[in-house]
Amino acid sequence: MPESGTAYPRPPRRLLRVFATDPMLGDAAGNRITISVANEPLKPGPEGARLSVVDYDGGSGRYYEPVDLDAPALLMQEGLEPVESDPRFHQQMVYAVASKVLENFDAALGRTFRWKGGARLRLLPHAFHGANAFYDPDLFAVLFGTFRADEENPGPNLPGQTVFTCLSHDVIAHEMTHALVHRLRPHYLEPSNRDVLAFHEGFADVVAIFQHFSFPEILTGAIQETRARLSSADTLVKLAQQFGYTTGTGEALRSALDDASVADDPFGEKARKRDRLKRQQYESVIEPHERGSILVAAVFDAFFATYQSRIRDLIRIATGGSGVLPEGDLHPDLVGRIAKEASKTAQNVLTMSIRAFDYLPPVDITFGDYLRALVTADTELVPSDDRGLRASMIEAFRIRGVYPDNVISLAQESLLWEDRSGEVPDLPVNLLRQQLVLSARAFDRYTPGRESDEDPTGPWARALRHWATENARPLDLVPGLPVALEGFHTVFRVSPDGQLLIELVARFVQMLRGAKDALPLRGGTTVVASSEGKVRYAVSKPLPSKKLRPEAHRAGERRAGLQASFSGEADLADPSLAWGSARSLRRRRAHVNFAELNRAAWRGQ
Ligand SMILES: [Zn+2]
Repeated sequence: MPESGTAYPRPPRRLLRVFATDPMLGDAAGNRITISVANEPLKPGPEGARLSVVDYDGGSGRYYEPVDLDAPALLMQEGLEPVESDPRFHQQMVYAVASKVLENFDAALGRTFRWKGGARLRLLPHAFHGANAFYDPDLFAVLFGTFRADEENPGPNLPGQTVFTCLSHDVIAHEMTHALVHRLRPHYLEPSNRDVLAFHEGFADVVAIFQHFSFPEILTGAIQETRARLSSADTLVKLAQQFGYTTGTGEALRSALDDASVADDPFGEKARKRDRLKRQQYESVIEPHERGSILVAAVFDAFFATYQSRIRDLIRIATGGSGVLPEGDLHPDLVGRIAKEASKTAQNVLTMSIRAFDYLPPVDITFGDYLRALVTADTELVPSDDRGLRASMIEAFRIRGVYPDNVISLAQESLLWEDRSGEVPDLPVNLLRQQLVLSARAFDRYTPGRESDEDPTGPWARALRHWATENARPLDLVPGLPVALEGFHTVFRVSPDGQLLIELVARFVQMLRGAKDALPLRGGTTVVASSEGKVRYAVSKPLPSKKLRPEAHRAGERRAGLQASFSGEADLADPSLAWGSARSLRRRRAHVNFAELNRAAWRGQ
């Protein structure tokens, strides 16, 4: 006799309720949405294949009862009702939002994302007291803080009210993204130029904000409210403000959104002044969050331009061609359609932004590199750019003075990474076949703990390292210097017209030790090859060496110079910045009872 219930197929999706906007911003009531995530089997925690919520309260030193999302009572009602007072709901929300971020990476990267060694990332919703949350690579955990709103100056909260950072969609998504970026590009925590940490911060905000915008329910209300100015940035600005994007570090974003006011006269004095200001920001701002918000603003611009052009026809239809909407409430159908366009555009922006990752160099990223990776990855998959999103991205970066090195113009063709077909021998094909078979299996079904294709001691890794060492020079790797393989993936992507694109991506890194305590100088190359092993791109950050081709050697010298001068500059401006993350992390760690937490966190494994 079958076990009871086995006769029913397992539903593919699990619905979970979460808060839509931050309780930290004071308006939790009534603001809830239901999001859908993959329906994996869960132990109480929740603990799934890739995430484990461990609800240890670092302040009081106790555990809260873990939520069992597979309990029938919760399965019947989309999880627990969103309430601030029940820690089990906090666990549910952290799990749901973090899972959504993982899914967005899976879909955009064309493979099932795995943590190193198939481990589970730990999420601690109530780790410490403090108005903060952070990803800790050593603990392999995201720690969320809890704090009391100020008695005198509580902001949008009640005086003395307890505020939970783990109930903010954007805080969860932002910190999850730090963890994911750290897994995909571990050297991006090393501030080798002024864009590196800024990229970490800016990209984490991009994921948070566009995942948030991808839920149409969130947009519907705002669109109805600001009905008269549907095509202005106001609606979305207002939402971004509600998400907290214009407080503190939001200066650049606000300036992005100010564009609405000069849209009527794009070449006038006001517009020129605005553009000047934006360029100055990129030239002068160094603090990683501030500088990161320049990246967010650029991506937001591109999103907004695309959204505007996508709803133009709807507005024309709704207004009989006049563009002037009638008085009173908008027809709900119109609001629904506009919200859908906005959320679809947000999802496209999110996917495009993440997809760029496989085309990024392994070390020393600049915003210019990110633009080139965005354009190349998107062109490979969507050659035509019917949506106009790619062109809008380039324009938004151009306005901010973000110009990649060695690029003669900002035309799409010159932004593509150089096609290196024919310059580098093919990847070893037997190796690829094995890799493809394994990856295809992994693609079908996520198998935690299965790391053989990335195990640096495994046969593929050895063969790949050998291949890179043999072909060091054409790959811009210094011959004779050890080569580390940092990642190897098969990538499956389906283009909008249904084409399947299969690619192989490998990352190689080399290192020159500098003075004691100084950041080492790293070089490296990301290789993108077709499924037959033909190398298409070798995205390199060479070390300085006369053994390399002259251009690569010069690029290496330039980088070494920039790294040295940036350390000097950063030391002058703010001594904590050179190794800023480590230092501020230590500061925040003061809030956590560490020995206790370590025990708590490991218990979750
Ligand atoms: Zn951050």
